[in-house]
Amino acid sequence: MTDASLLLLQYGRKMHAAGLTTGSGGNLSMRVQDGVLITPSAMDYGDMGVDDLVLVDLDGRVLQGRRKPSSELDFHLCLYGARPDIRAVVHTHSPWVTTLACLGWPLPAVHYLVGFAERSEVPVAPYATFGTSELAEQVVRGMVGGKALILANHGLVAIGTDLKEAFNIAEEIEFVAGVYLRAKAVGEPVILDEKAMGPVLTKFRSYRNPL
Ligand SMILES: [Zn+2]
Repeated sequence: MTDASLLLLQYGRKMHAAGLTTGSGGNLSMRVQDGVLITPSAMDYGDMGVDDLVLVDLDGRVLQGRRKPSSELDFHLCLYGARPDIRAVVHTHSPWVTTLACLGWPLPAVHYLVGFAERSEVPVAPYATFGTSELAEQVVRGMVGGKALILANHGLVAIGTDLKEAFNIAEEIEFVAGVYLRAKAVGEPVILDEKAMGPVLTKFRSYRNPL
């Protein structure tokens, strides 16, 4: 699991460096041959080493690692169960998206890059306590038909066929959320309609799945 561990650790640090989370907030996971590799609970990314990552099976049993897996393990596993097309999950508390999450506002197509989420609006899943099966259910339900979801009063979840894709989605959705809230602060932003977003979504899907 060494290569996968290094990659996960690298993206954890990248997530922190990019300002997509603070301290030990947020978490990442990826599918590996034996199960799911996930970041540990309550540990700063700067202090994390490969030995701190946890390998679990699809039922959440720890196969390798001395730490406790992330408290959001449940929604990571439920997403892998519901979406066989994905192999990575990134969960952030990025500031702009979290501001939207606290307003209970979905993110509309204020900029075409919202298409990274493979939907023309990123919806908000109802609030549920972190680490609960109720939250996991809301995450799976809200993710149907897209690759990003805002969690009310909490943050963002992004999924992808690999860590790079899930991370890029989280980063671009944070960018669009920032643009939207800054535009809202000075006026009424122009939102792209379905006619404008249709070709964008087609391009994003074919770009990622060239066959
Ligand atoms: Zn969280």
